[in-house]
Amino acid sequence: MNTVTVTLASWEDKLDIIKMSKKTPFSGTIQNPESDHEYDNEIDKVHAKMLKFSLGVSKYTSNTAVFMELGQIPVSVKAKVLTAMYLHRFHTEIHMDNHFLLHNAFKCMKEYSHPWIDSIHYLFASHGMADIYNNITSRSVTKGKLKKLLITRLSDIYIQYNDMKMQSKPYLGQLYSLTTGVVYQKQTYLNVVSTPQTRMIYARVRTNSSKLSPSPYSEIIDKCESCKVTMDFKHLLLHCKNTEKQRDSFFKSIQDLHYNIDVKSDGLYNNIMNLEWPLLSREEILVVIPIVLSYVGHVGRDYVI
Ligand SMILES: [Zn+2]
Repeated sequence: MNTVTVTLASWEDKLDIIKMSKKTPFSGTIQNPESDHEYDNEIDKVHAKMLKFSLGVSKYTSNTAVFMELGQIPVSVKAKVLTAMYLHRFHTEIHMDNHFLLHNAFKCMKEYSHPWIDSIHYLFASHGMADIYNNITSRSVTKGKLKKLLITRLSDIYIQYNDMKMQSKPYLGQLYSLTTGVVYQKQTYLNVVSTPQTRMIYARVRTNSSKLSPSPYSEIIDKCESCKVTMDFKHLLLHCKNTEKQRDSFFKSIQDLHYNIDVKSDGLYNNIMNLEWPLLSREEILVVIPIVLSYVGHVGRDYVI
């Protein structure tokens, strides 16, 4: 996970940015994390903006899509882990004899049930770790174990949240089907394609932010007038009657290179978008990229990527 450092002067801003609002102290009620847009806060927006810039995709591209392409977990997850670890440090490392002032300040915060402490209590409780919070001073809760547990638990919740989102949004589901191997890992093509321009085109097509995507940002899917089916990039590339000629010449050029490709395979679209043909080496992929791009360019000749 890459690190983003944001320095803020005001404590209220810090709480606000990681959505540990002092207005909602722990009340014993566990809220559904999905309902309060946990990953929609300012720090995650900055993180997503930076990722979009590095991928070269439009600012309107789905945040989920860019996090998935680059194998990132929102930075607020890490911020929450650090905050919880800081509380652990107060309990275990800040003593009367080594940090007199800090120790007393913490004592007062506990006594008056400071919102910061309440918010961390809420963080533990809402992620099924109330027991760990209550035993935070126990020797079995070591720094290393706690950090690992928090990262795993918070990341899992984020992944579950994303899975639900992908089921409800077709183009995110399509992207999910393209993420071969482990999801939330930087996608293979980003390492293979070394030309920034080419990489950008792939990223735009995959994340549905190219102009080839008929309805990139809405849920309204257009119909293909010629074929009377749902019009999406996959249809344009593999099935549309209008692009038959370009498709045939593409497959011919691929077969001329002696690549054993089953053109009728369902996985073909994934292969094109992942640059992962079976048994294709890195060198061969580099030969195939210009062909794929020329195909995408031909098929989408009336559009600008
Ligand atoms: Zn069509």
